[in-house]
Amino acid sequence: MNESVKIWKDISSYIEASMSTVSYEMWFGKLVPLTIENNKLILVSPLVSVKRTVDGFKDTVVKDAIEKSGTYVTDIIVILEDEAENYKPEKETSPSVETKDEEDDFKFVLNPSYTFENFVVGDCNNIASSAAKAVAENPGVLYNPLFIYGGVGLGKTHIMHAIGNYIISADRKKKILYVTTEQFVNEFIDSLMKSKDNKLNKSFREKYRNCDVLMIDDIQFLANKMSSQEALFHTFNDLYQNKKQIVLSSDRHPRELTFIEERLQSRFQCGLTVDITNPSVETRVAILRKKAEIKKFRVSNDVIFFIAELINSNVRELEGALSKVMFYCSLMKKDVCDIDTAKEALKDFIDVTNHVISIDNIVDATCTYFNIKRADIVGKKKLKNIVNARQIAIYLINDMLGIPLTSIGDYFGGRDHTTIMYARDKITSLCKTDPMIQAQVNDIRAMIQKK
Ligand code: ADP
Ligand code: MG
Repeated sequence: MNESVKIWKDISSYIEASMSTVSYEMWFGKLVPLTIENNKLILVSPLVSVKRTVDGFKDTVVKDAIEKSGTYVTDIIVILEDEAENYKPEKETSPSVETKDEEDDFKFVLNPSYTFENFVVGDCNNIASSAAKAVAENPGVLYNPLFIYGGVGLGKTHIMHAIGNYIISADRKKKILYVTTEQFVNEFIDSLMKSKDNKLNKSFREKYRNCDVLMIDDIQFLANKMSSQEALFHTFNDLYQNKKQIVLSSDRHPRELTFIEERLQSRFQCGLTVDITNPSVETRVAILRKKAEIKKFRVSNDVIFFIAELINSNVRELEGALSKVMFYCSLMKKDVCDIDTAKEALKDFIDVTNHVISIDNIVDATCTYFNIKRADIVGKKKLKNIVNARQIAIYLINDMLGIPLTSIGDYFGGRDHTTIMYARDKITSLCKTDPMIQAQVNDIRAMIQKK
């Protein structure tokens, strides 16, 4: 496959994930990759209107997809069919091991945006992230190997790249070798197939044993591949003895890698094993804020909370939802994303779960019930009726959504969690003693549930 086709396939898969199939097909699906020039991917558009629309998404959706794909392409250029003649057509080559020089093995593969600075630390990944930093600061010294495991989309790959980026930024000469398990296996098979005189076998060995840091992602895919396991076993021992850092990731603990030979399993566990779990709503909020900041996407607090509540599975989906909202906003030409646009953009998520209650629903219902303004309820006013409404909303948010107090505090203009706790406890006890408060709480709860 042509290099441009391969790279476009990669980038466009991220674009596709960020919008509806209809929109994708209408615009991006019509582009044909032509060639790559100066790290820019040239795409041909059949229509001016398609080119115009796609160009309009370059700073948002496209940029985002390029970053995520982690390829070396820095931008796309959309041209019209009649301009295509001005470009040199690409040779029909697939970039094989022979055409690459040694540096390619160690560069380009690291996604520059996967850094420690861009990684949000929370309860779910605290230990993994500290261990990764320690390894990045002192490779081969402290924890060898570092084995990171956890479910899909929780940041294992991000952390591995962050280790690589950190080491490279301190010393450009360091040879960081990051590969997926699939790549490792393919290269191994390739080297066996071409090794009449054992030459390529040697190049495989040299590549894997000359590096300073070896990172292999998703090692569970080594299951049942006995010769590749053997190759890894020897590579591992060699690197380990030479005090070279090894980092591995997997979707499960090494002892659960039952289709991997025992001697390898035990090697995996001789350093440090750390896990990453699902992020709490607080961490999800922090991640969304970080991603919005990186993408220079202006979005209000309630939108961030709305997405964080809606998507509670993994970070990749969380990012996907944010990209969808970004896409919608650029479509609607909105400078700042408001809650209605976000709801519209994510209506599929809401339909699937049928009925999702958000902080907003609760705050809006409370405002309607007491006939007060949203700005007042989340603001600083101390009028008795407003304070009462605010405390009831806080109580209901905690009660109905189980959202942590600090996050509720953030939503209510950065109030301290003790203030939120006070409000919650006050309404909890009044519900038992004051029939009027009890009735108000019940009415508002019913209003929310009926929506
Ligand atoms: P995994 O390898 O565990 O399947 P990835 O590392 O590919 O997951 O992460 C999926 C996406 O989520 C990436 O875009 C990554 O940047 C992002 N991500 C995951 N965890 C975090 C985090 N704690 N902070 C910021 N971004 C994160
Ligand atoms: Mg991964």
